[in-house]
Amino acid sequence: MVLAQPQPLTLHPAASPARLPDNGKRFFIWTIGCQMNEADSAKVAAMLQEVGYRRTEVEQEADIVVLNSCVVRQAAEDKVAGKLNALIKLKREKPETPLVLTGCMVTNQQDKLRERFPHVDLFFDPSDFDQLQRVVPELADLDDDLLQLPHYYAPVGEGASSAVAAFVPIIYGCNFLCSYCIVPYRRGKETSRPQVDIVREVERLVARGVREVTLLGQTVNAYGHDLSEKTGLADLLRAVDAVPGLERLRFLTSHPKYMSDEIIDAMADLPSACEHMNLPVQAGDNEVLRRMRRTYTRELWQERIDYTRRRMPGVTVATDIIVGFPGETDAQFQQTHDLLEDVGCDKVHLAMYSPRPGTLSARWEDDVPHEEKLRRHHILEALQERQCTERNAKRFGETVEILVEGRAKGRWSGRTRGNQLVHVADDRDLLGHLVDVRITRTSPWYFIGEPVGSPR
Ligand code: SAH
Ligand code: SF4
Repeated sequence: MVLAQPQPLTLHPAASPARLPDNGKRFFIWTIGCQMNEADSAKVAAMLQEVGYRRTEVEQEADIVVLNSCVVRQAAEDKVAGKLNALIKLKREKPETPLVLTGCMVTNQQDKLRERFPHVDLFFDPSDFDQLQRVVPELADLDDDLLQLPHYYAPVGEGASSAVAAFVPIIYGCNFLCSYCIVPYRRGKETSRPQVDIVREVERLVARGVREVTLLGQTVNAYGHDLSEKTGLADLLRAVDAVPGLERLRFLTSHPKYMSDEIIDAMADLPSACEHMNLPVQAGDNEVLRRMRRTYTRELWQERIDYTRRRMPGVTVATDIIVGFPGETDAQFQQTHDLLEDVGCDKVHLAMYSPRPGTLSARWEDDVPHEEKLRRHHILEALQERQCTERNAKRFGETVEILVEGRAKGRWSGRTRGNQLVHVADDRDLLGHLVDVRITRTSPWYFIGEPVGSPR
């Protein structure tokens, strides 16, 4: 909807770029993979911006090119290799431009990588940002405090130093050893950040205009298990919720085994904690779960969702599924289908199994043919589309609160507290505002709506 008379709004800090130095140099960052990678890329971007670099979307213009890689599935790894190979030409034309590779493709043994991609100048472990100084000496001048820069992301506009929503890593690595997963081999053991550091980072983000924070970890609800102080995610949620000015708080990804009543109760009780639960199940068959080494049953997962729904009526649920795991029979796949049918998730991240060298399951025969994996993938996609179409259609006419995060094709976009995407046409500058929106059109994947009341 286009309002006839746009009303003046106070500009959100995200809309008014802070003044950052400009040394005339440009950086290009390409990121693939999970939110942790996005957070790491944002940190690299923030560091470069602090010393005067500006972002460019054009590789050829860049004075440094950073690729942040993912190897969780073969398809992602292939894309990284494709991107690296595509940059050979650029490196030939501009040999002085450092090409940097980070993310989960980088292991401690870099000889093989060096052999395969000799045109890369620096391979750096995402836990060691200081290594960047080897190709960007200016970073040596960043004082310690600035090196603790928040992982703010998606800066809006050239030179902007702020955004509306930010990711904050709270625990690195993973102590589980799911038989298919490469993550523990690349990201190491669980290491939680001290609570005071996290709260301080959130305070700084809020001071820069951030209104929504997502706490990140591969197993985010294992937070604190490795710390000497007796603390956990529930305590941390309470501490972060208390940061004045923070409107919304999320966390991902949780492991079903650690999804305690205490954490769910904290979610239900804290005003900023959003009504959205991200709880990967991976498979609905207990024998498959056992071979995946997931350490829980479908019943436990379902019971955790039930409890969450009892404590937070209206909560939305997201999960992850792998189809075609070694040995997955038709009947076992059907169990996954039926579980999803019963539970009705709002978002299912579907993946077709791909063996990851070095993991346990890579030693087993990858015996579900690709066509069969595709078929199972399509069946679950169709189920999801049908369920989301029906569920979302019931929301027609409902008023929901969105946090406006961006604008594309003449429409503002934001997410509900349940993490559902909403598009709104409006002439005012709504960036960074909380807006109540009446849903005027529904689809399985997003809503369209019109603002009601005053943006906040
Ligand atoms: N820590 C999270 C997931 C991290 S990996 C959890 O415990 O669920 C992100 C997603 O990638 C997983 O949820 C899984 O669905 C998918 N994935 C991981 N390894 C995979 C593999 N070998 N093949 C296919 N999908 C995989
Ligand atoms: Fe991988 Fe399992 Fe750890 Fe998730 S919990 S990161 S799937 S090993």
